[in-house]
Amino acid sequence: MRPDTPPPSASPSPSTTQAAATPWHALGADETLRMLGTQVHGLSSDEACARLARHGPNRLAEAKPPSAWARLARQFDNLLLYVLMAAAAVTALMGHWVDTGVIMAVVVLNAVIGFVQEGKAERALQAIRHLLAPHAVVLRDGRQHDVDAAELVPGDIVLLASGDSLPADVRLLQARNLRVDEAALTGESVPVDKRVEPVAADAAIGDRLCMGYAGTLVTQGQARAVVVATGNATEIGRIGKMLESVEQGTTPLLAKMAGFGRTLTFVILAAAAALFAFGLLVRGMPAAEVFMAAVGLAVAAIPEGLPAIMTITLAIGVQRMAQRHAVIRRLPAVETLGSVTVICSDKTGTLTRNEMTVQQVVCAGQTVDVEGAGYAPDGALKLDGAVLAPADLARRAPALAALAEVAALCNDASLHETDGRWTLAGDPTEGALLTLAMKAGLNPAELKVERARLDVIPFESEHRFMATLHADGGGAVALVKGAPERVLAMCATELDAQGRELPIDAARWHAAVEAQARAGRRVLALARRTLPAGKEDLDHPDVAQGLTLLGLVGIIDPPRDEAIEAVAQCTAAGIRVVMITGDHGVTASAIAAQLGIGEGLQAVTGPELEAMDDAAMREVVRTARVFARASPEHKLRLVRALKANGEVVAMTGDGVNDAPALKQADVGVAMGMKGTEAAKQAGAVVLADDNFASIAHAVEEGRTVYDNLKKTVTFLLPINGGESMALLVAVLAGVALPILPAQILWVNMVSSVALAMVLAFEPTEPDVMRRPPRAPDEPLLSRFLVWRIVFVSALFLGGIFGMYEWALAQGASVEAARTVAVNTLVCMEVFYLFSVRYLKAPSFTWQGVKGTPRVLAAVAGVFVLQLAFTYAPFMQTLFRTEALALATGAAIVAVGVALLVVLELEKTLLRRLGALRA
Ligand code: ATP
Repeated sequence: MRPDTPPPSASPSPSTTQAAATPWHALGADETLRMLGTQVHGLSSDEACARLARHGPNRLAEAKPPSAWARLARQFDNLLLYVLMAAAAVTALMGHWVDTGVIMAVVVLNAVIGFVQEGKAERALQAIRHLLAPHAVVLRDGRQHDVDAAELVPGDIVLLASGDSLPADVRLLQARNLRVDEAALTGESVPVDKRVEPVAADAAIGDRLCMGYAGTLVTQGQARAVVVATGNATEIGRIGKMLESVEQGTTPLLAKMAGFGRTLTFVILAAAAALFAFGLLVRGMPAAEVFMAAVGLAVAAIPEGLPAIMTITLAIGVQRMAQRHAVIRRLPAVETLGSVTVICSDKTGTLTRNEMTVQQVVCAGQTVDVEGAGYAPDGALKLDGAVLAPADLARRAPALAALAEVAALCNDASLHETDGRWTLAGDPTEGALLTLAMKAGLNPAELKVERARLDVIPFESEHRFMATLHADGGGAVALVKGAPERVLAMCATELDAQGRELPIDAARWHAAVEAQARAGRRVLALARRTLPAGKEDLDHPDVAQGLTLLGLVGIIDPPRDEAIEAVAQCTAAGIRVVMITGDHGVTASAIAAQLGIGEGLQAVTGPELEAMDDAAMREVVRTARVFARASPEHKLRLVRALKANGEVVAMTGDGVNDAPALKQADVGVAMGMKGTEAAKQAGAVVLADDNFASIAHAVEEGRTVYDNLKKTVTFLLPINGGESMALLVAVLAGVALPILPAQILWVNMVSSVALAMVLAFEPTEPDVMRRPPRAPDEPLLSRFLVWRIVFVSALFLGGIFGMYEWALAQGASVEAARTVAVNTLVCMEVFYLFSVRYLKAPSFTWQGVKGTPRVLAAVAGVFVLQLAFTYAPFMQTLFRTEALALATGAAIVAVGVALLVVLELEKTLLRRLGALRA
């Protein structure tokens, strides 16, 4: 057996476990490493590469997509197409072969359009999926690397932390308070406590405590583990379950429109039947002719292209959001984003740059300024304007020297220099502390080897401190850093300027914290405690009291420039921005002022929130904009209170404990870079760049999508309205049809679709972020839009009939008069498109008249098609059209221009009357 080949027993399901070999969960940790040909510090990169070539990427084979033929066939399964196919069958029976041909051509065209659009929407989602690819922290060549989870191979050593999704099947080597939610695999909703000891060979999946399975979630703790199976060899791969990273489906609006479409189809069929009866019985028209009129009515009134165009509009919106770094995981979010009234955002890294630099250190009654910016260790420490040389530190500022040591050792980050540039691996707060230690003359990397860490209490937002245990001379010492009020409460003494321990003067320190926070600095307190020799593990009680405070550090994390701009945009758009942070209240208020969230705001703190009942909380969230020292549970309560007040809430989150708040929010926004897998799975939107500005962009795009959906509907419905009214009037009045059914199909399927498609791509209107948010229950068709649809339908009716009668009066044949009517309809559509592009704003602007390249291309395309329709002999046979004189063409264009003018006058009038609010 090759050393890296898993034993046959790697298949962990008991039913397939071979009795002869021991399954991974029954093997000891060392034995597992030996079998996998690896070591605790990981594989070499070369070996990992070789194994990757052998085992293939750690990815589940995707289910084969349905074949193109199957997808095309599916397009025919549609109520509208059934109606059309039935009409085609009847016209064929009646021997109207041309009509049959045209109707069938429309059926096929409709299916092809649906097919192409579905493909486009699918590709748009596909392009987004890779942005959500999971990552893993792996040890290779003895160093930590953050790799794409697809690159993992059996034998890799991975590090797991709370919030991670397990990237592969693993055997645990070390685990600290590790709890894993295995619901995805076992259905068990309570997280399981994991251990490293082997279990019985016949243990069921849920009982294999020393194993972790791909796709399950770490809810707490940390672990080191060795990968035993990847890709399809994993348990989840074997049961063939796909973990969807982008959920598909529809949005409430599209579902409503689909329902509306179905009802409309039935109503229209009933109306067509009534028309047939009326024509036959009352007017005594020949059955064949009145049947064609009924078919005409049905095809005229049904908005054939609408559902497809609405779907594509949404897909384009999703794609645009992805280009602006907001990845939509749940489609309804696209709509909800447009009506968001409150955005609750984390501070660090989202509103601020997360580039931390220590600016001041306060210790032993002295304030030391730290020069330099970023992670490069260039910059002097200055006390009262005089440089403190690192060599003198131990003598002149012993407390500072001790503090620098804690900064270097109680730290999980590392800094690397390449070509003079310093990059950070790990938490930025810790990176800032490493830089400080280096400016104080220490070499953290060497120091970490010299003073090896015996144990650690990792930093968690819940307890807000971190502690490490080290050997110290003959004894042991615990080094602690964390939020000042937390650490101060654990301290009994402080170090003075000569390095002596004195009882702590808590009031003076609290004042110093306050002063740092007021300058907008993030404050950490650093402390230590000597422990008895022989101590090997560290627990909370060991550091809960008796610590010696060494000092405070004040760290700046400047606001992102684009966040300042985005906050202003949101405010203009009627959206309140609320900052929720784990940081100190005063720091948070100072940063809020810099961001423009509000001047002189008093932060509401976590403990204050805890003292409030739900009613008090609802009152507070009406106005409060800064919440500090807040934990994930507070976020959940805040979302609930805001929603109870009728707000539509977007909430950001990154930690595993943020998942409930993300799910509860109307739009959960997870951080793509620093967010945990748990948060990403809970979010409806994932930000690829963790930037607040991207949320504002997503809101803007969400509003644009909604506008464009409105425009599409407002554009298409009056065309159907005008056409069907023209037919109805003709039958009721007992005159010849001004437009034939086949001609109506031509208009609906060719020019209308080509023109309406433009609306899916319409750019954002300039005032989008200057209007208040849309009420979530606002109907797509407001009273204004219903009026507009009825009004324009009437104008279309007037245009079609007016020009038809005018042509007849000029002595034209019925065929020529119908050709005039169809061309008038299409020409009016073109001008109506220019009007609809700005629902409320004037269209007679340079911007409006010049259109976009897409608009112009669509108009040119439609023009060429109409020329063919009118002059090409085969079209003349097919659609019974006749060539028109140039002067007639000019008259047709004049009608189009007149329509635009009338609609502009209507906009002006309604604007004067103040009715253009909707
Ligand atoms: P948010 O991302 O929600 O805006 P945050 O990142 O500032 O907030 P936390 O990371 O929960 O909030 O940090 C809260 C406090 O814990 C900080 O103000 C700081 O005092 C302390 N702290 C932060 N990081 C560490 C760390 N790595 N070790 C010890 N203490 C830390």
